[in-house]
Amino acid sequence: MYSRVLTASLYGLSGEPTWAEVDCENGLPAFSVVGLADQSVREARERIRASMENCGLSFPAKRITVNLTPANKKKEGSHYDLPVAAGILICSLKDKVLPGAADLCGGKAACMGELTLDGRVNAVDGVLPMIMGLKKRGVDKFFIPEACLPEAMLVKDVYLYPVSSITCLADHITGMESISPVKGGSAQVVPSGTDVPDFVDIKGQDHVKRAAQIAAAGMHGMLMAGPPGTGKTMIGKRIPGILPKLTYDEMLEVTQVYSAAGELKNGQSLISERPFRAPHHSVTKAALIGGGGRPRPGEISLAHRGVLFLDEIAEFQSHILDSLRQPLEDGFVVINRLNTRVSFPAKFMLVAAMNPCRCGYYGDPVKQCTCTEHERRQYAGKISGPLMDRIDLHVSVQRPIYDDINIGNAKSAVSSSKLREGVENAMAIQKERYAGEV
Ligand SMILES: [Zn+2]
Repeated sequence: MYSRVLTASLYGLSGEPTWAEVDCENGLPAFSVVGLADQSVREARERIRASMENCGLSFPAKRITVNLTPANKKKEGSHYDLPVAAGILICSLKDKVLPGAADLCGGKAACMGELTLDGRVNAVDGVLPMIMGLKKRGVDKFFIPEACLPEAMLVKDVYLYPVSSITCLADHITGMESISPVKGGSAQVVPSGTDVPDFVDIKGQDHVKRAAQIAAAGMHGMLMAGPPGTGKTMIGKRIPGILPKLTYDEMLEVTQVYSAAGELKNGQSLISERPFRAPHHSVTKAALIGGGGRPRPGEISLAHRGVLFLDEIAEFQSHILDSLRQPLEDGFVVINRLNTRVSFPAKFMLVAAMNPCRCGYYGDPVKQCTCTEHERRQYAGKISGPLMDRIDLHVSVQRPIYDDINIGNAKSAVSSSKLREGVENAMAIQKERYAGEV
């Protein structure tokens, strides 16, 4: 007995079609998975058997072979549970009429989800990019975990079948009780408002705000150097608030990255605000750039279309900082593995802050610097020349003047919305200037 069910594999942000082929033969009961499956896929055998038996579905006492094809590409993740289980169900019920099986076996519908031992279907990472990848190849029906419905709803012109348990899917296949589909793109997307702090909180430091505005207008890199306590971090955190609003397509791009990284919070559908990522200086290269056994997006991709803020940039390891050079240049990052090569988008605005020297007070009119000339040079040398070259604006941040921050002073600070107006105007001029080019 043979059956096959369409599913998807995620390589970077590209969802590619994969078939779960199931063959049930008479012989000693056994269950093997082939097709370059990693540990998490091989563990599916135990989950599928237990979940089917615990739901009262008969698990065939046969020699079962599962092949995930194309067999030359690595398969990772737990979302193959549901298609394999569906294939086994279809095989074991082959002598019956199965109205729900035609779409699944015919490649018109794809199926993905992780099973629990009691038969429920758990959410999986990357549902949005997988659906988008398969939609491009003409698939328009998707059986997905119920919890992934909010993000899947972003894709237009597809039919989504939310599956809550293996029993629901079995009833759908046998025609006992069909799952009613939901049309993608039909729901109103509610933007998730995040609290970006406002520049109005910062009195004084007008030249730094102006520099931030100029940097934001061109998404240029910006480095702020100055003694501790001068407001560098406060300014950095407020920059996403002066960037123009994301367009819908940009929101989709960002949401795909978060979906692949498993960073979408429960029930969250669309990331509608520009991301702000501030990794600690102890971050590893894989966490910053992306990587791991199963390549996942790093901080630079999670900051795509937003701000990557590196506070105390001189404290980061220099080889980690140097790995930022290629993504800064290209707007994407390529991760090579033994037999895969994936890329993630990484178009971000780099904002960095540092002290002028190790003690932090070089050039400060109030406190004396205690570093030697050699120490100062060593400190500045922690950031390589090529990386410095890619940071366009270098701003010196000094202690604010008392008159500027005096509460009694009538002069109020400029707000983020005012600064954003300037950024949007500059971008509009550039758009007109370069219309027709590139
Ligand atoms: Zn010093």
